[in-house]
Amino acid sequence: MPTPPGRALSPSTDPHPIDPLAAVRGRILLHVRGTTEAPLEQVSAHRSGVVFSGAKAVENLESFIRDICPECPTVLDPSEYERHFATPAAPFTRSDQLPLPGVPAPRPSPESAEPQPGGRRLRLTPTRYLRCDDDGEKALREAVAQADEASDPALILAVPIDAQWLTERTDTLISLLHRNRLPKALILGAENNPTASAIRAKGLRRIIASCTDTALLRTDLAAVDAMVHGAVFASIGDTSSARHAAPPGSRPRRGLDSSPNVLYRPLMRYIRGAKLARYLEEEAKDCFCSACAQWADDHHRYSGGRPPTGFPGAADTRDAHAHNMAVWSRLWADISVRPSPSEAKEYWRRVCSSAEALSSWHHKNVLEYSEVFAVPAYLRYWAGKAG
Ligand SMILES: [Zn+2]
Repeated sequence: MPTPPGRALSPSTDPHPIDPLAAVRGRILLHVRGTTEAPLEQVSAHRSGVVFSGAKAVENLESFIRDICPECPTVLDPSEYERHFATPAAPFTRSDQLPLPGVPAPRPSPESAEPQPGGRRLRLTPTRYLRCDDDGEKALREAVAQADEASDPALILAVPIDAQWLTERTDTLISLLHRNRLPKALILGAENNPTASAIRAKGLRRIIASCTDTALLRTDLAAVDAMVHGAVFASIGDTSSARHAAPPGSRPRRGLDSSPNVLYRPLMRYIRGAKLARYLEEEAKDCFCSACAQWADDHHRYSGGRPPTGFPGAADTRDAHAHNMAVWSRLWADISVRPSPSEAKEYWRRVCSSAEALSSWHHKNVLEYSEVFAVPAYLRYWAGKAG
């Protein structure tokens, strides 16, 4: 029997209530696997944070805290779901087999009579990949039972589920997450986009809306949809491999196009920079996000912005990632200042509706664009036009 993640950690006997997620509540964080081309210097310690995944997560987290932003909230993801399938006997990799970062877990002050805010150093349980079958369900039950004994306020139960859970066993998933005392973090796994279909986007929204203190990590703009529908926090990957998980053993598919994925705001989608350069040359309007404005300043560009066609090759990857984060950060800032949750939902729906209409126009009117600009099913759902 593996050691439950909490049993290897220091128990807290502090009787005062704390909000363990205070440092990240209401935020969308940057999610990275590698750090070479990640815009870590641009992450705001006051509005965002970073989730570190992958084989070098501990090392990258430590150097980020030491060299770049000591105040920034961070989440360590041991990423065991990348390597192992969960079984009922071993839903976790034993925590004593994992390297831990050289930063102390936050400890509430025993002297204080006031509720204490949570720390800035959170970490996910080393949960393995949960298949959508009987064994996966038993493994999740066991993970929830073991996590219930954990007493570390920095710990979040990672729930790395195969995307099939979004349409099958959904009621079971909701019931199990309800039962869990720790905060939860959903990570969706599939060979490609886990929420590409409207029915999966709908299932995800239902799960998030039904379970309190649940985050959605390692995703794309689904993070925004989750946030407006009640997620406690979320994270968006800087690379496509950090925007979803893949089942252990699956091989990433690499195409010939090495240009970066660029978040094209008018269509609310990631599109390869080379494709944007090819199809949008004539009509593209400059982007004035903070990253592109800085680029324009550095390059003495009169317009003050950068065209979205300006990321055609692999050499533009770092700039594209900075642009992507600036765009979704601005979007989330615009949504989160709405005076009420219902107005935030409506603002988001209208953004998606405009993108859906523009995609449809491209798809119908410019044959050459058809393949590139086909309207994604999840976007129709977010726009309130499907499901
Ligand atoms: Zn930009």
